[in-house]
Amino acid sequence: MKALVYEGPRKVVVKEMLDAKIEKPTDVLVKITTTNICGSDLHMYEGRTNMETGRILGHENLGVVVEVGAGIERIKVGDHVCLPFNIGCGFCKNCEKGLTGFCLTTNPGVAGAAYGFAGMGPYSGGQAEYLRVPFGDFNCLVLPPDAEEKENDYVMLSDIFPTGYHATVLAGVEPGDSVVIYGAGPVGLMAALSASIKGASKVMVVDTHTDRLALAEKLGAIPIDDSDGSSADQVMELTGGEGADRGCECVGYQCSCKGHEVPNATMNNLIKAVRPSGGIGVVGVFVAEDPKAEDSLAKKGQIALDFGQLWMKGQHIATGQANVKAYNRKLRDLIAAGKARPSEIISHQLPLEQAAEGYAHFDARDEGWTKVVLKT
Ligand code: NAD
Ligand code: ZN
Repeated sequence: MKALVYEGPRKVVVKEMLDAKIEKPTDVLVKITTTNICGSDLHMYEGRTNMETGRILGHENLGVVVEVGAGIERIKVGDHVCLPFNIGCGFCKNCEKGLTGFCLTTNPGVAGAAYGFAGMGPYSGGQAEYLRVPFGDFNCLVLPPDAEEKENDYVMLSDIFPTGYHATVLAGVEPGDSVVIYGAGPVGLMAALSASIKGASKVMVVDTHTDRLALAEKLGAIPIDDSDGSSADQVMELTGGEGADRGCECVGYQCSCKGHEVPNATMNNLIKAVRPSGGIGVVGVFVAEDPKAEDSLAKKGQIALDFGQLWMKGQHIATGQANVKAYNRKLRDLIAAGKARPSEIISHQLPLEQAAEGYAHFDARDEGWTKVVLKT
């Protein structure tokens, strides 16, 4: 089968690989039809993780079931399914509680498994023609009859729509709240959509890229350009001097090697921009290590947090991977009902063969390259 393979920093290649196949009775084999490039892939693409070369990337996957293992009872050949990026077992302490991002079975000793990801188990990614789905009865989200026509909406249920929603849950967003979101990338835009769905009275989105801020505005948010570093002051002004009720971090570790904006300023900006006793939800990924970084903390993937201000303001911070299964059914039904259209943020649809081009543009944040979907 054709697949996108990681060959080293900023080097990915589409090549022939061994076909994915059923390995255990609880597996399901999916013919992938749509698979996305994610900001999380960039941590590996840019070479800040211990990703092994020769592995297939891709954790935002949707397709059609072509084979099921002998132990599969619920999922049928021909089902159109979206696959949460987390691989859960369904029966460990964490999965039982809906915390599938921290499954204790699928990546023992570490907690949390995903397709095509550094440090998250041996599972192959879905930027390929076929994908093996472990514990298929548990992990496949079956899509409604309009699946084919709305593939580009439903594929967002694999990660970024539930992840954006999770950011608002971690922050504690309630109806009427004002919410500030750092990052107008795909995840931040989905957090903005989710905050509106949850009834926020005011949604503000911070970034420095005007094309991405324009998309945030299209989703009904107030765009805040942080090019001059004044975002927290702008939020204070927009909230009558109080600060936002809730804040979401949808940026994560930013490499310092190629002129990315002020690396890792987001947490301290959030502490400034959120009101005393407010909540901050962090879904941006901070585990990357950056050997090229100038500051010694960043080298080890750490950040300087203004803990004194956090303490003074009595804010709460919650963080971690999104537990996609906790939300994907509800969000699927919103899409089916025509009440959410996450595909609005897609900028490019490319054949899998052109994936390397998609990676290069998305990584460089080239103007207009907001979200790339690949078709196999
Ligand atoms: P992205 O890289 O496309 O978007 C990040 C955005 O942040 C960019 O638009 C960038 O311009 C902006 N940015 C950079 N520095 C900033 C700053 N100081 N202030 C404000 N904005 C700034 O990536 P994405 O796909 O939107 O993903 C965002 C983060 O979410 C990544 O770290 C990704 O790994 C993480 N993520 C987490 C989960 C989870 O389960 N927790 C799931 C998916 C993605
Ligand atoms: Zn992703």
